[in-house]
Amino acid sequence: MDWAIGAQVSMDEIYAKTQSLCPSCAMDAPAEYEERATGMWLHVDCPQDGRSSEKIAGDADFFKWGYEQKYEKPIGHLVIPVTYRCNLNCRYCYTLSNSSLALPPDWPASTLKEIFERESENITLLGGEPTLRPDLSDLIEAAKHTRSERKVSVGTNGQKLALHQYARQLKESGLDFVFLSLNDPHYEESTEIYSNKLQALDNCAELGLRVWLQRTIDNLDQLDSLLEVIQAYRRIIFHVTIRSVKPFGVRLPSRQVFVSEIISYLGKARAYTKGVSPFNRYLRLYGKPTKICSWVNDVSRVDPIDSDYLISTGLITKFHRGMKLDELRLTRAGTDGAHTIDQTMNARRIDAP
Ligand code: SF4
Ligand SMILES: [Zn+2]
Repeated sequence: MDWAIGAQVSMDEIYAKTQSLCPSCAMDAPAEYEERATGMWLHVDCPQDGRSSEKIAGDADFFKWGYEQKYEKPIGHLVIPVTYRCNLNCRYCYTLSNSSLALPPDWPASTLKEIFERESENITLLGGEPTLRPDLSDLIEAAKHTRSERKVSVGTNGQKLALHQYARQLKESGLDFVFLSLNDPHYEESTEIYSNKLQALDNCAELGLRVWLQRTIDNLDQLDSLLEVIQAYRRIIFHVTIRSVKPFGVRLPSRQVFVSEIISYLGKARAYTKGVSPFNRYLRLYGKPTKICSWVNDVSRVDPIDSDYLISTGLITKFHRGMKLDELRLTRAGTDGAHTIDQTMNARRIDAP
C-alpha cells in the first residue's frame, strides 16, 4: 500500500509546500511534497489527526515537470449530484453511493431548476446514478432551456441507456453528451453490466449522442481493451479520460498506477501537451483528445477535474474538496447527528434541500 496515516517518514528532500485536505477529517491542512527515489509523496499535517502520507507519482521528475508548468483554466463547469443513490456497487467507486453512511435526500427539482437559472456554467448531472431520477429528462430540458448555449451532460454507468427508448428520451430532452464509465471487462462487476454498457454505446451511436468515455484502471493491461473500444466507437466518442484508481473517498483501492506509467504503456512517452492542470496529461488516442487523470489533494492548485461541485449542504466548491466535504458531513452526522460543515473557502452557498 502506498499511503498511510501517521506514517513516520524522513524529510530528506522537500520539493514544495502547499495546502491539502486531511483524509480523516477533510479539513484544510498544510502539506508538503517529498521527492524520493521511488517517486513523489504528499505529506499532510492535520492539527487534529496528525500526519498522513500518500505516494502521488511514480516518477518524481515527471511530476515536477507538470507542477512547474504555467497553467490556468477558468472554471466553467458545475457538477451536480442529483442523487446519491446508485443501481451498481463498483469496486472503483469514489462517490458516496452504497456507503454505509446515511445518504442525503435527492435535491428537489424546483431547487435544481433555480440553480440552473442562477448559474451560468455548463452542467453535468451526476450521482450516484442520475438515471435513477424519474425526472431526469425534465431536468435536462430545464438546464438546457435556461441557457441554450450551455452544454448539458450526464455522468452515467450506462445501465439505463442500454434501453434504446430511454436513451432517445434523454437525447430529445436536449442532452449534449454523456460521460459514460466503461472499464475493462475484468474490472466491471459482471459481464451483464459490461454488455449493458456496450449496448448503451450502440444506442448512442444510433442516436448520434456523443460520448466522453471514462475509464478507471488499477492495472496497465486494462488499457488494451480501451483502445479496442475507442476504435470500434470512434464515430461517437469525442473525448476520453483515463483515471488511475486512487485512495480517495470511502473506498480505498489496494493498488494504483501512476500517470507516467500509463503514458509510457501507451507508447507516448513524450507526447503530452502543456498542462492545464499540474497533475494531468493530455494526448491523443486514435485522434481523440485523452486526459490522463490523477487525483492529488492539493487545494492550492487547479482542481484535477477542473470543475465546481454542489455538496449536500448547499455549498458549491471545487470538485474533490466538495466530495470530501460530503463524506465528512455524513460521517459526522452518523456519529452525533449534529455537525455541520463550516468551510467556505472558495465556495458559494445556495439553499440546501
Ligand atoms: S456506477 Fe458510479 S456511482 Fe454507482 S457504484 Fe459504480 S462508480 Fe459508484
Ligand atoms: Zn484531520
